[in-house]
Amino acid sequence: LAKREGRDRVSEFSVEQMRDLEDRLVMGNQLRDAIRHGELELHYQPQYRAADRRLTGFEALLRWNSRNLGQVPPARFIPIAEALGLMHEIGEWVLDAACRQLRAWLDRGHRDFTVAVNVSAQQLQRHGLVAQVGAALQRHNVPPAMLDIEITESSFMENVWRVQRTLAELKALGIKLSLDDFGTGYSSLAYLKQFPIDKLKIDQAFVRGLPTDAADAAIVRTIIAMAHELHMCVAAEGVASQAQADFLAAAGCDELQGNHLGPALRTPQAGERFVDGEP
Ligand code: C2E
Ligand code: MG
Ligand code: MG
Ligand code: MG
Repeated sequence: LAKREGRDRVSEFSVEQMRDLEDRLVMGNQLRDAIRHGELELHYQPQYRAADRRLTGFEALLRWNSRNLGQVPPARFIPIAEALGLMHEIGEWVLDAACRQLRAWLDRGHRDFTVAVNVSAQQLQRHGLVAQVGAALQRHNVPPAMLDIEITESSFMENVWRVQRTLAELKALGIKLSLDDFGTGYSSLAYLKQFPIDKLKIDQAFVRGLPTDAADAAIVRTIIAMAHELHMCVAAEGVASQAQADFLAAAGCDELQGNHLGPALRTPQAGERFVDGEP
């Protein structure tokens, strides 16, 4: 097309767009082999009970250490994996790795913790997620209640009835369900009533301005009150300072996660959080 329309057309591509396209092509090709080459890794960010700063578990966060591209953040490669239809396979790898780690921690005698795994809207829409989760739990002999699946509001944008069925099936396995990045999506509050959500995770966009920003403070207090009225647990993510942690604890937020309490760590450093106790 570019050839037929001549060089003028090509110049209409911005440098930005060109880089984006190149990114997608190069990254896509590398990503296809990432699992086979052992380039994927999970890091674990600790989660703490706000009241006494006791460790409640970890969120598994995917890292891609590409031999050719270096460290690529998930916000960049996950959309590409989805566009190329690779997320099903990558998601399966994530579930397996998280359950294997959970088992390893159990075998070391650690108790009463959960591991949270992120599942994208596309993974939830596709057939087979429930079977993947069930198989990973069985393979590693993990009690289902120790696995927490994090979904986002964008999952509710399409095929609502199907998502509802999938979530019901996931709950029937006995796992926990969390709604991630709460407050930034476009979903209706009616979904909170309809879907079997155990935990709301307040998006870091609302945490950032705490404790001084009056609007953020009001939004956060309202989300906490609503979650509790609905008998849900509420967590805050992106907690980056002591002042934010103090505000959230005083406001009745149940759990805290963020760089102030601990960044995402590779194993075995993450495991040391069990014994260290208070951050
Ligand atoms: P998320 O699930 O909302 O994860 C929280 C993100 O906030 C993580 O970014 C985490 O490293 C970052 N974070 C934690 N504490 C702080 C803090 O104090 N300040 C700031 N500024 N950021 C903090 P990360 O690891 O880059 O992940 C980005 C997103 O990629 C995740 O957002 C999640 O949506 C997605 N993701 C990560 N791993 C997976 C995965 O295995 N599967 C899927 N489908 N998505 C994943
Ligand atoms: Mg998450
Ligand atoms: Mg989040
Ligand atoms: Mg987020």
